[in-house]
Amino acid sequence: MQKLLITLDGPAGAGKSTVSRKLAQRLGYRYIDTGALYRGVALVVSHSKIDPQDDLALEQLCASLKLEFRLIENNSAIFLNGAAIAHLIRTPAITALASTVASRPVVREHLLKLQLEMGRNKAAVFEGRDMGTVVFPQADIKFFLDASIKERALRRHNESGDQNDQTLTETELNIRQRDAQDANRLTAPLKSADDAVKIDSTRMSISEVVEFMLAKIKSEFDS
Ligand code: C5P
Repeated sequence: MQKLLITLDGPAGAGKSTVSRKLAQRLGYRYIDTGALYRGVALVVSHSKIDPQDDLALEQLCASLKLEFRLIENNSAIFLNGAAIAHLIRTPAITALASTVASRPVVREHLLKLQLEMGRNKAAVFEGRDMGTVVFPQADIKFFLDASIKERALRRHNESGDQNDQTLTETELNIRQRDAQDANRLTAPLKSADDAVKIDSTRMSISEVVEFMLAKIKSEFDS
């Protein structure tokens, strides 16, 4: 089969990361978690005195960052200026700030170039919010993964396990707020590409979703 560039977009908590990681493993492709790039920018903003609405400061900050994915024990891991940051970017504060910095066109423009560079050799699964609409409108195959808000909140809540200090209702509210901010921003809002394969995973397991996608890919590209 030819090397494909696959995109997977959708709202928070729909299962995109797990599905993308597994899909990439099955195909022997790279997995690119583009949310981690926005989270990386948010992490630096949170450690600086920069106002997240100050475009000039954001531009200078982005230019000083080296964000990359490295393969560690067969898993794609995010690095910032040479340091692993995966364990620092999943806090509720960074999650909320990532959505705020992601609404700034200057940040998106910077990360757009980086993502295009990462996609140059294809053989990759790109996961995010605007992969199929803005970053890779010519992707070989696009998926949009969704699930009911109740199910997404429950999944997020269970994922956080013992470290969770939010109630299920708070998790649901946070997801609603973040989806609204992501879907209503002017630049590259969260939405499905018209030509994306839409999947409602409310009543599907992770492996059912992955198998469905693999079958779809096979039917279109295996000759
Ligand atoms: O996917 P994840 O929850 O890690 O993304 C964090 C935030 O990064 C999202 O809420 C969204 O605001 C932003 N994001 C984006 N475009 C992408 C990926 C993530 O705006 N392609």
